[in-house]
Amino acid sequence: MLRRSDDRTKRPKKKKFDSKEKFFRKKSCRFCLDKTEVIDYKDAMRLKRFVTEKGKIMPNRLTGNCAKHQRKIAVAVKRARYVALLPYVGD
Ligand SMILES: [Zn+2]
Repeated sequence: MLRRSDDRTKRPKKKKFDSKEKFFRKKSCRFCLDKTEVIDYKDAMRLKRFVTEKGKIMPNRLTGNCAKHQRKIAVAVKRARYVALLPYVGD
């Protein structure tokens, strides 16, 4: 009952999560470069790039999209989910 002080210090330190730029290195909005105004929700191949394996929409700090296009992607992904082009939950 008395040996409780060491338990916490012995635990190995957790590694800091450091895979922020795992998928994308480019920090420019590709939709701005292409001057794309409308993002088609039927273009599932393109939208897949902005969705994780688990089906979540990737944050723009990972994708490098600007806020304007990130919003449009989010809407497009949600529409694509509704018409079953993209999964709500991945595996
Ligand atoms: Zn943009």
